[in-house]
Amino acid sequence: MSKAPTARKSAKRAVKSASSATVKLRSASATKAALKAKRPTKAEAENAVRTLLRWAGDDPSREGLLGTPDRVTRAYGEFFAGYDVDPALILARTFEEIEGYDEMVVLRDIRFESHCEHHLVPIIGKAHIGYLPNKRVVGISKLARVLEAYAKRLQIQEKMTSQIAKTIQDVLQPKGVAVVIEAAHQCMTTRGVHKPGVAMMTSTMLGVFRTDEKTRREFLAMIGKAGGTFLSNV
Ligand SMILES: [Zn+2]
Repeated sequence: MSKAPTARKSAKRAVKSASSATVKLRSASATKAALKAKRPTKAEAENAVRTLLRWAGDDPSREGLLGTPDRVTRAYGEFFAGYDVDPALILARTFEEIEGYDEMVVLRDIRFESHCEHHLVPIIGKAHIGYLPNKRVVGISKLARVLEAYAKRLQIQEKMTSQIAKTIQDVLQPKGVAVVIEAAHQCMTTRGVHKPGVAMMTSTMLGVFRTDEKTRREFLAMIGKAGGTFLSNV
């Protein structure tokens, strides 16, 4: 009697280990479920907004602010929609009929809006993403959606740059990935040191983009950054 369920279980395990990507996706959704369970209710979140309004020095019960907690919590739903998206899943569907195409694929000047995890204020900028395919490619809009999935979370630019590059490398397994991000941080322009017009640049180079200078240069030329010295750290 007890044998049947055990056999079923080990069959299940075999299916699971057949694809490490599937396992990864499953554990990611388990983490997401755990996070969701801990999420406060909308009413609790609205009360927190009222507290912040009082902290700012205003009166949450005055007419102009009555609908604000509701609007802010709904806006948070948009700003942070990335927590409900699995970036690896976006790249799951690939195309292998590429007629021997073995040149770089580059998407440049992709605008994004994110939020700094230290001050909860916007980070606005653009990303350039490139990869050198290894027998398979993804639909080009998918790269932009991976960026979006990470941008719509609380971020620091360095982490976001590396997360995008690593996800593309892990799931698509190309010969290499390059991600360059330039962005203005409102925590720097509207508060603190008040330095408008400053763009922060970050890059992650993986595979051939890291090991082969010619490939890296070609990518930088394609995104209009050739000759720049900001990548001296790669
Ligand atoms: Zn900040």
